[in-house]
Amino acid sequence: MITYDRILIRYGEISTKGRNRNLFVDKLRRSIKRVLHDFPNIKIEAQRDRMFILLNGENSEEIVECLQGIFGIQSYSPAIKVGKDIDEMKEAALALFRKVYREGNTFKITAKRADKDFSLDTGEINQTFGSHILVNIPDLKVDVKKPDINIVVEVRKEACYLSCENYKGAGGLPAGSSGKAMLMLSGGIDSPVAGYLSMKRGIEIEAVHFYSPPFTSERSKQKVIDLAKKLSRISGGVALHIVPFTEIQQLIQKQVPDNYTMTSTRRMMMRITDEIRKKYDGLAIVTGESLGQVASQTMESMYAINDVISTPVLRPLITMDKGDIIDIAHEIDTHDISIRPFEDCCTVFVPSSPKTKPKLEKVQHFESFTDFEPYIAEAVEKTEKLIIKPNTLIDEEIENLF
Ligand code: ATP
Ligand code: MG
Repeated sequence: MITYDRILIRYGEISTKGRNRNLFVDKLRRSIKRVLHDFPNIKIEAQRDRMFILLNGENSEEIVECLQGIFGIQSYSPAIKVGKDIDEMKEAALALFRKVYREGNTFKITAKRADKDFSLDTGEINQTFGSHILVNIPDLKVDVKKPDINIVVEVRKEACYLSCENYKGAGGLPAGSSGKAMLMLSGGIDSPVAGYLSMKRGIEIEAVHFYSPPFTSERSKQKVIDLAKKLSRISGGVALHIVPFTEIQQLIQKQVPDNYTMTSTRRMMMRITDEIRKKYDGLAIVTGESLGQVASQTMESMYAINDVISTPVLRPLITMDKGDIIDIAHEIDTHDISIRPFEDCCTVFVPSSPKTKPKLEKVQHFESFTDFEPYIAEAVEKTEKLIIKPNTLIDEEIENLF
């Protein structure tokens, strides 16, 4: 039986990105290589507007499966390359048809002719190939509207490509093609989803987590590591910065009235995250905030918190309903980790009645009696950086933390 010798990858958005195209294609090539590292014989051949994965005997079905989650791919099809000899093309098309045909299936031919010098035009290709298949398969019917099998015959300058299955890709932009941002990663449901969505648009993520020992336990840290591990599957690795936050939280408790501690805590988190961003050349901060969910996520609250930095804060979930966020959390397999019942630094110190509409001038006033600067510098200084890989054990590194 005839076998596919390649997979045709269509870029979609990338091909419209002008001068950046080379970068996009290069990042996509890397993503594919990483995901397909278990298939040593494949080769990648990138062109301006498409890419081929040359299988060299590797299993096309397994590879089709692996390509599903890769950002930057619009669609893909297993294909067969043949020379531009019409008889050879016809035989190959028939062989491909036999490979996928089940009794009762209808079919059509879709001709694509990029090579305008080819001796047959698209109508003639449809005719020639259609009738060749029809005479060879008894009782076969054509259905041009909704065929079970659509044999695509694509004639290019260098060769002809035959395919008949088209898979939808994950869309988005290739991992790491849009620059770096710091993801504020809590142990909750939302921030991993925000991380995932920003990675989908090509952002390279470094996660920042605030941790308050002994009020938060090793297990809650492990939870964040596990979440980062899920995200790392997209990019092959994610840096996770773990910030010791106990001292600052205790200071806030002491200096700021109870109903403003939450606002102040968030402001300190932002300041520290921004310092870490500077250190690692990030261009933005990503949070899991969604408008109106909790006290810290009203418009007034975001206004008062955002005031401490001028760096862009990206909030991919801002307009989303909780149910939709949860659906994505299930899809990306972070939900069950997020609902593990471990304490977060913010829940430990949560005030009994946080201001839902904090005033910027007030929080500024309350903070003005304390010089937080040295504490922030110390927290940044003591921040631990872990590199989280999809499947490596890093228990040893965890052991040595702090
Ligand atoms: P999540 O489900 O992501 O925890 P949430 O609905 O619980 O979000 P908040 O607790 O108000 O909302 O947190 C808002 C955002 O602030 C989070 O999505 C996250 O980006 C950031 N954040 C909160 N706590 C932490 C933390 N301990 N470390 C790092 N970032 C945090
Ligand atoms: Mg939370």
